[in-house]
Amino acid sequence: MVEVNQRGHKSGCLICGADLIYSDAEERQICSICGHALHSNVRCISGHFICDTCHSLPATEYIETYCISTKTTDPIELAQTIMKSSKVKMHGPEHHFLVPAVLLTSYYNYRAEDGIKKAKVNGAKSRAQKILGGFCGFYGDCGAAVGTGIFVSMITNATPLSRDEWRLSNLMTAKSLFSIANRGGPRCCKRNSFLAIVEAVDFVKEYLGISLPIKGKIDCNFSHLNKECLHKGCTFFRNSD
Ligand SMILES: [Zn+2]
Ligand SMILES: [Zn+2]
Repeated sequence: MVEVNQRGHKSGCLICGADLIYSDAEERQICSICGHALHSNVRCISGHFICDTCHSLPATEYIETYCISTKTTDPIELAQTIMKSSKVKMHGPEHHFLVPAVLLTSYYNYRAEDGIKKAKVNGAKSRAQKILGGFCGFYGDCGAAVGTGIFVSMITNATPLSRDEWRLSNLMTAKSLFSIANRGGPRCCKRNSFLAIVEAVDFVKEYLGISLPIKGKIDCNFSHLNKECLHKGCTFFRNSD
């Protein structure tokens, strides 16, 4: 697994923070974010190549593009990969979209419904953009939890007039919020995203009979970037940090 480097990967590869290497001649390379093939003479030492278009994307568009092109079915692994990019800050409202994006991506990849995935991820982006930064502390409704409600609303096609879909969507947010609230503050967008995703994976298994593969133990690679990290007080803290 690629580690976040000590610079908080502000330089080097956008995906993993590793140093870039340049060759004399351009080679055909596949962009690690959008999947398009281009000729370039730069890649990182881990083998990532990122096209110029993806290089200049803001965080939410980066998340969307990455999710649309990936085939993974593990939402935690996908979340951790996206979080390692320097485009995604330690804390920030991009996590409100990241949570439903990785869940929708894993769900539709698992069901081999690639054609639906793109529209759903794009729809979740529009909805998530309405969840402001700091929503957790100011409104008592963590955006990562709302993100799981968006996820269930989108896969069940819930509306304000639905009956069971409405119940499931609100129940999803409630379960995520309960899990997040029980850990206490201060906010951590990594911890709360992991908790929300785990709750959503449990939820779709229990209520929809779909078992998304998920890592057994989640290790956080971001403690050194979070000055409010609870360290041993957090479920996901790695002792080696
Ligand atoms: Zn890389
Ligand atoms: Zn690209």
